[in-house]
Amino acid sequence: MQTRLFINGEFVDALSGASIPVRNPFDNSLICEVAGAEAADVDRAVAAARAALPGWRAMDAADRGLLLLRLADAIEGNADELAELEARDTGHPLRDTRNLDVPRTVRCYRYFGGMADKFEGFVPPVYPGFLNYVEREPVGIVGQIVPWNFPLMFTAWKLAPALAAGNCVIMKPAELTPLSSLRIAELVRDVGFPPGVVNILPGYGHTAGARLADHPEIGKLSFTGSTETGRNIVRMSAGNLKKLQLELGGKGANIVFEDANITAAVNGAAWAIFHNQGQACIAGSRLILQEAIADEFLERFIGLARSIRLGDPLDPLTEMGPLTSKEHQQRVLAYCKLAVEEGGEILTGGKVPSDPALAAGFFVEPTIVRAKPSDRICQEEVFGPFVSVTTFSSDQDALVIANDVPYGLGSGLWTNNLQRAHRMAREIRAGMVWINSYKVVHPGSPFGGVGKSGYGREMGFEVMREYTQPKSVWVNVDAQISPFYKRP
Ligand code: NAD
Repeated sequence: MQTRLFINGEFVDALSGASIPVRNPFDNSLICEVAGAEAADVDRAVAAARAALPGWRAMDAADRGLLLLRLADAIEGNADELAELEARDTGHPLRDTRNLDVPRTVRCYRYFGGMADKFEGFVPPVYPGFLNYVEREPVGIVGQIVPWNFPLMFTAWKLAPALAAGNCVIMKPAELTPLSSLRIAELVRDVGFPPGVVNILPGYGHTAGARLADHPEIGKLSFTGSTETGRNIVRMSAGNLKKLQLELGGKGANIVFEDANITAAVNGAAWAIFHNQGQACIAGSRLILQEAIADEFLERFIGLARSIRLGDPLDPLTEMGPLTSKEHQQRVLAYCKLAVEEGGEILTGGKVPSDPALAAGFFVEPTIVRAKPSDRICQEEVFGPFVSVTTFSSDQDALVIANDVPYGLGSGLWTNNLQRAHRMAREIRAGMVWINSYKVVHPGSPFGGVGKSGYGREMGFEVMREYTQPKSVWVNVDAQISPFYKRP
């Protein structure tokens, strides 16, 4: 497959000749080197996007949608290859990339392919004699920065709506995991997107990413990544007052009430934190248990965590793979150490697995820690298979603990009491709340957070608003002209 930058419909070397090594996190072997974009390459991509924009905007929206639908078909036609590529590059188990990431990716392109010719403006009632209509125009040239945790899926979440809305895009995948995005670039070319409409440039954040943030011709930047980088991007983008969408970190509360279905809650809590090794912004990383059921819940939850099959992501039986990089593994292990220093109790995990077959990979065992809500491990995003456990007595206690973090992305609650469920959903400070489930996403439902989790939304009509701007057009049909400065 191609490993170079995708600019103006072609694969080209970086102007500097720089390259980035891509490693398999299961055994640290080198998969390949990809070209590493720098600022000058971003400038080249912007020039290509600028040239492509008038034609792309003028195209019948149904034809733009059709290209997205063809892209979805091409991804489906290459599903096995893409699932394997993603597993190799990121460490996600194949059973997840095959059953979740690829189908969700296809669904996302289809959803926005269908949306392209249906996203409407509106006609507000105004003064008699005037017609006012409001169109939604594309922003123009859009920058997109993707993290390493779900590269294939997040590429879809960003490309699909931006293109459906009529923008030209320059996307930078994360330097650690650029392969599925480059494969998508090949499919973009094969299904016939005009050159310059989609540009995909692997590169480092401080070079290519920074140029996307400060480029004066990029009208909007959609960023998914850490809160710290998000803050830098706000500063760097100030020059042209870029429209920003920031999908940042999370510290999801997952509350289990004594009236919940405990089996469903145990399984759901494991999915919430251990899927993708906990490397999910919406992970349910703070388990908040009502005292009456805490012991029973924990016994079963710990048993489940210990039974998770760690292994080679390419083995279809593997349930948990390695973390995506050595550096990140060390970061998660440092949080395990900190947990003990803060007086927490590691109930299971907290270390690398002893199996010699896993020794070369960046594994961390599924980890459950009893801790105080004020501990750093309950306040900071760990982004690994690491969940803190706290108990509560009343609904009010649960709410105070749930809301006592600076993040507000995803949260879950498990209860069979209808009123409690809706009351808690209303009071929890988060962009998304799941009741008796966790981490369900759909291209039709807004995805994003509040507080340090950022602002703006992916998905649905909300994201179409993000990628467009309203233009209000006033027409004097038969209005009385104002008397000021009236001349015969
Ligand atoms: P990161 O911020 O280090 O990197 C994310 C992306 O930003 C990468 O492509 C990186 O190259 C780029 N980048 C880094 N420095 C940059 C700079 N100075 N200027 C421009 N771009 C720069 O984050 P990460 O470690 O790759 O990803 C994990 C983080 O992403 C976690 O905090 C997680 O919660 C968050 N995340 C959020 C969501 C969401 O939707 N809210 C989804 C997934 C991940």
